[in-house]
Amino acid sequence: MSENAVVIVAAGRGARMGSGRGPKQYLMLGDRTVLQHTISCFTQHREIASVQVVIHADDREVYDKAVAKHPKLLPPVIGGKTRQASCKAGIDALPSTLGTVLVHDGARPFVSAATISGVIAGIAEHMCTLPATAVADTVKRSLPGQTKIETVDREGLYLAQTPQGFLLAEIKAAHERAALEIDREFTDDAAIAEWAGMQVRLVQGDPGNFKITTPSDLSTAQQRTSNMNDGRTLPIDVRTGTGYDTHILGPGDGVILCGVKIPHHQSLQGHSDADVGLHALTDALLGTIGAGDIGSHFPPTDPEWKGASSDRFLEHAVALVAEAGGTISNLDVTIICEAPKIGPHRDAMRKEVARIAGIENLTRISVKATTNEKVGFIGRGEGIAALATATVVFGS
Ligand code: MG
Repeated sequence: MSENAVVIVAAGRGARMGSGRGPKQYLMLGDRTVLQHTISCFTQHREIASVQVVIHADDREVYDKAVAKHPKLLPPVIGGKTRQASCKAGIDALPSTLGTVLVHDGARPFVSAATISGVIAGIAEHMCTLPATAVADTVKRSLPGQTKIETVDREGLYLAQTPQGFLLAEIKAAHERAALEIDREFTDDAAIAEWAGMQVRLVQGDPGNFKITTPSDLSTAQQRTSNMNDGRTLPIDVRTGTGYDTHILGPGDGVILCGVKIPHHQSLQGHSDADVGLHALTDALLGTIGAGDIGSHFPPTDPEWKGASSDRFLEHAVALVAEAGGTISNLDVTIICEAPKIGPHRDAMRKEVARIAGIENLTRISVKATTNEKVGFIGRGEGIAALATATVVFGS
């Protein structure tokens, strides 16, 4: 099968976005530009071999900053005065050995892999193919200077999207002819194909594949990207972190576990209060935001943390998660020790963890305990360990 290329047209000035914001394709959506999102939809698609971006002559520098290099990405070409001229520049830059080309708007960053595949499948049947959605609202025609409004029958009306797919040689020839023979501008490549007498076919489009044109489109797009990871949308961004800690037991009169002092003939030894429960929970929370571990935030060599009450560590991790936009869904910790007995203190420990984490619903806080069946250092009563899991929901 011949290889598929895509021309991404990103040479526009975005007049409808309002002044002073710069071309819309270079505005940020989350951690990357609109154009980078669009390009990634195609570089990640296994049926696309080459991506040719067409840019405005003034944008070379901003393009280099806005777009990451990728093996499928060809050096950008400079567009023309109109969208049609820019498409032609992109198509002309492609090696003629390629069989098929898709043309896509740079400001449609949410094109799905299914839409791209649908268009490619259409071209394989030797047809020009474009995705389109049926018009759902009643359509009115209101012309400037006329008071009369007309209702247009929406039967058979569709809204055209991109990518639009063609056999490369056919669309290239049609563009060449159109540039020579026609004065008016075509607003999409399918219109050129229709004019040239090529057979054009519609496939199911996707309402999510909208074009960012107005500030309102941009805020819709920004909302949508709050749940994105590497260009892919996560319906719900749920993250899980785990934590483990152990401290040795030495002489003393009690241990502090999950913020609760439990009388015992030994104490846990450590730089801080050696609360393995809160330490494991702190690491679990840090794990949900990729923020290192407790030792990187509170170095054991730092005298400030000597004898420190460990609720400060957990409070810090809770604050970092909140700053990252996370909401704690659940905290679960298991204490592993032969003694003291945890059961009688379980509820006090849950309440203390809930207080520190700012959680009201106690079903979201779990404290469990187990012995180590008298084996190993825990079994011999030399130390206590804790395992923790945190679940945090983002962007909802
Ligand atoms: Mg520790």
